Amino acid sequence: MILKHDVLIVGAGLAGLRAALEVAGSADVGLLSKVYPTRSHSGAAQGGIAAALGNEEPDSWEWHMFDTVKGGDYLTDQNVAEILALDAPRAIYELEHMGVPFNRTEDGRIAQRAFGGHTRDFGAAPVKRACYAADRSGRVMMDTLYFQAVKKGIRTYPELHMLDLVIRDGQVAGVTVYELATGEIHFIQARAVLLATGGFGKVYKTTSNAFASTGDGVYLAYRAGIPLEDMEFVQFHPTGIYGLGVLISEAARGEGGILRNDLGERFMERYAPTIKDLGPRDMISRAIHVEIHEGRGIGGRDYVHLDLTHLGEKRLAEKLSDISSFVKIYLGLDTAKDLVPVQPTCHYMMGGIPVSVDGEVLDADHRVVRGLYAAGECSCISLHGANRLGCNSLLDLVVFGRRAGLKMVADLGTIPWPVMPKSPEEPVRERIARLKGGRGGEKVAHLRRELQEIMTAHCSVFRHEETLAGALSDIAALQDAFGRVNVESQGERFNTELLEAIELEHLLGLGEAIVASALARKESRGAHSREDFPARDDESWLKHTLIQKQDKGYRIFHKPVTITRFQPKPRAY
Ligand SMILES: Cc1cc2nc3c(=O)[nH]c(=O)nc-3n(C[C@H](O)[C@H](O)[C@H](O)COP(=O)(O)OP(=O)(O)OC[C@H]3O[C@@H](n4cnc5c(N)ncnc54)[C@H](O)[C@@H]3O)c2cc1C
Repeated sequence: MILKHDVLIVGAGLAGLRAALEVAGSADVGLLSKVYPTRSHSGAAQGGIAAALGNEEPDSWEWHMFDTVKGGDYLTDQNVAEILALDAPRAIYELEHMGVPFNRTEDGRIAQRAFGGHTRDFGAAPVKRACYAADRSGRVMMDTLYFQAVKKGIRTYPELHMLDLVIRDGQVAGVTVYELATGEIHFIQARAVLLATGGFGKVYKTTSNAFASTGDGVYLAYRAGIPLEDMEFVQFHPTGIYGLGVLISEAARGEGGILRNDLGERFMERYAPTIKDLGPRDMISRAIHVEIHEGRGIGGRDYVHLDLTHLGEKRLAEKLSDISSFVKIYLGLDTAKDLVPVQPTCHYMMGGIPVSVDGEVLDADHRVVRGLYAAGECSCISLHGANRLGCNSLLDLVVFGRRAGLKMVADLGTIPWPVMPKSPEEPVRERIARLKGGRGGEKVAHLRRELQEIMTAHCSVFRHEETLAGALSDIAALQDAFGRVNVESQGERFNTELLEAIELEHLLGLGEAIVASALARKESRGAHSREDFPARDDESWLKHTLIQKQDKGYRIFHKPVTITRFQPKPRAY
């Protein structure tokens, strides 16, 4: 079947939904999602969304901008951080008016709490900047925006997977999709396509991300020749539930939670004397690793404790109830009485598809690809630099999702209907036939586990030339083995084994891009910590990495960082 929309949005998380709401009413829009829309990972966001409202204590957008730049270890493009911080209060009130039930202060204003790396007076002390709805902020935002989308009659396509992004002569022609329920393949023609497909934490063994976070949009753009930016910057969140990776939001520390080592010490006092447990995530994850490495993990093992016991049952029930219930369900522990075992978990991808401040996708020559846009975690707008601050992602989604929507509507007047490619579904049919007809005996689950183990062992919080180089050749061997993958389920309906094979191909490509970019950057900055190059090196490395797929292998090149107000300084907290 061939379908047609002026604008097609791939991804119904908060970035895709916010963009769709902007387009609806001005142009015909379709919204595609491989999971049921409200199951998108945005719904799992816990802690909150940042904005310098100053509802609890004095705050300013300039402090927010500064924190974003410093948090990103000065790799953040400062013009982008300025747009974010300035637009944040408007974005929050807009969400409020749409119906998001934020927590309230005693006098009825939107309540705010402290979060890692958010400070007052350019780093003097933590500030309450995160707006929240208990510890289910993403859930209420998703439900509200989805409700608005239904109200506006936006056409949604649930459980349809994009398997190919078709670009012809520098213009997007549309996407080829696979219908989970029937196995049918459709082509959706569009004048503008927005990729809002989220992150790819599933490259790692331990992650806070959803099963669907396999980076399909990022990989398909990469395969179509679009370079990827700053892929080496992978955020590890300090407090994943030990062994599982399920997230315990930074809100837990925002509300006063404390990290402790085997000696019971509040060890963050040594690493971030000013803001302690509210340091940025890269720093705390490194600190945890150092504590463990130096033998102060709990009982000598590879985790530390998160102590919430002093917060009291009432506060835990009011502000951290979901987290407390995860701890109960997964560990059988009570946050009011027990210490919670935690270890860093892969959480967020700073890198992705390079875009302008209006979401236009940029090619290797930094030129706009006609008709192609991206927003949200799949994009790299250079806002989060080398390390994202907590609560800045939800804000990024609604601020830049909206801007991409506005831009698409504005551009439609000048984008003609693309020429319909001949048999656009053919490459996807071939891809599927190859997987279903495979006889090599390699198993998807096995290869995926190997990839996740390689990435976790050699390209997580600390990295080193030797192990990165080894990881790169190991991934190449897995890619080779993928050619011998054997999908046993031959059925058409709900063939999840087939889709998992396809997702694995994407993860392998993205894993390679992460490791190759990490190997190339010979310094330590933000979340990229090289044991063999422990210092930040602004002279040689204050620049963005770009990696582009070639017929054989890839090439790596760079582009400058935009610095407007804040000159790079050593980063202390
Ligand atoms: C557990 C957790 C807690 C978090 N808490 C916070 C927080 O408190 N504050 C904060 O600021 N940030 C938080 N983050 C980060 C933030 O939630 C994410 O970065 C953000 O939600 C990503 O949104 P998105 O719209 O880009 O993508 P997602 O919400 O991940 O949505 C991706 C969409 O793309 C669709 N899709 C993907 N591939 C395909 C395909 N091939 N075909 C069709 N559709 C496809 C999916 O179906 C889905 O609809 C958290 C993240 C996690 C994992």
